[in-house]
Amino acid sequence: MSITSDYKKEIMDAAHNERIKLALSRAIASYRTNTNNALKKFPHTIKLAEEVLEIKQQAMGNMETLAKQACDALQENHGKGYIAKTAQDALDIIDGLVGKGKLIVKGKSMTAEEIGLRHHLEAKGNEVYETDLGEFIIQKQDAKPMHILSPAIHVPKEDVAKLFSKITGKDLKPDIETLVATARALLREQYFKADIGMSGANVVSADTGTMFIIENEGNIRLTTGAPPIHIALIGMEKLVPTLGDAFKVAEVTWRYANYTVPSYVNMVSGPSKTGDIEKVTTYGAHGPKEVHVIFMDAGRTELAKDPILRQALYCLRCGGCLYECPVFAYTAGHFGDKYFTGIGAVWAYMLNENEEKGAAMAYTCLTCGRCKVRCPMQIDVPAMMMELRKRVAEGEKKTD
Ligand code: SF4
Ligand code: SF4
Repeated sequence: MSITSDYKKEIMDAAHNERIKLALSRAIASYRTNTNNALKKFPHTIKLAEEVLEIKQQAMGNMETLAKQACDALQENHGKGYIAKTAQDALDIIDGLVGKGKLIVKGKSMTAEEIGLRHHLEAKGNEVYETDLGEFIIQKQDAKPMHILSPAIHVPKEDVAKLFSKITGKDLKPDIETLVATARALLREQYFKADIGMSGANVVSADTGTMFIIENEGNIRLTTGAPPIHIALIGMEKLVPTLGDAFKVAEVTWRYANYTVPSYVNMVSGPSKTGDIEKVTTYGAHGPKEVHVIFMDAGRTELAKDPILRQALYCLRCGGCLYECPVFAYTAGHFGDKYFTGIGAVWAYMLNENEEKGAAMAYTCLTCGRCKVRCPMQIDVPAMMMELRKRVAEGEKKTD
């Protein structure tokens, strides 16, 4: 069977899956209420989003310079920055840092998902714990994430109870508080036993080399704070010139991701240090002694040259568009590859070397434009889909 007919079957099966419909209808209602309340409470976010769009538009033409600047800043902060031209380069750098037989706690990262990092590390003989609750559920189900922020969005609480009952050997009821407490108990000790903590980042300021990692669960604090080594894998499109720019991007991201304010915004610029004994700066205090940050290109600088499809790089990964997409409401991440819906089609076709899937996704999109209305970056998905379809028809990948 070809990938296209596999995909057609997958998406039709998903559309008839009542569990997906149930879980998504609950999530969509809650997302809309939360985001509308957040935007009502902080109306300046709309204007701020316009500023952020300008920041992103300028940064996209300058990614390599920004990455070099961030590496220099990290070096000054006693961390280490790397530029990976390809996904394989990123994996090679990570292999060199991790080695084999390590215990790794890992935060959710779409860039890691893009290059299949967890499976890669496991294949090399490492033990990896996903620490985001949704991602932990997906890992234990041996499934694929179905949303960029809420990977287990399609899994109703009844199914989580069954899964956790199997893991713990206890008869757990579908009570969300109990399920969250169960995950906490299962993961707690791993943070302090782990050799390495891994994360992505929502935005990075090139001038200070500071990674902003937005979260609510507290798993990122532990992942990036408890183990002796922190490794971050970050797509180069996350770079902006200044710390001030990064604050703006962070605020717009969390507001459209449905939060008035998140519980935590982690800012990491280098390893932990102290000067408390005789004012001698010593690295490796309570937090990691080593911080390694890999900025991955993997097609992004090429895509930035594309007059229409470059918009895909402005994406903040707030996830807002997914809740508005009528196809996603029925199929969840089955309308996706590593990234989802129309914008995911661009990533699949242009970046993730999955042209056939990207093409099929471009034709799954209804070009209704509901995503564009919600998107803080006003990303014109229908226009990108028409362009992608044209290229598919012409058998062409990139514009020069
Ligand atoms: S334009 Fe496509 S991706 Fe956007 S909401 Fe409509 S169907 Fe979904
Ligand atoms: S396309 Fe827009 S709405 Fe969707 S995740 Fe990206 S920034 Fe958010």
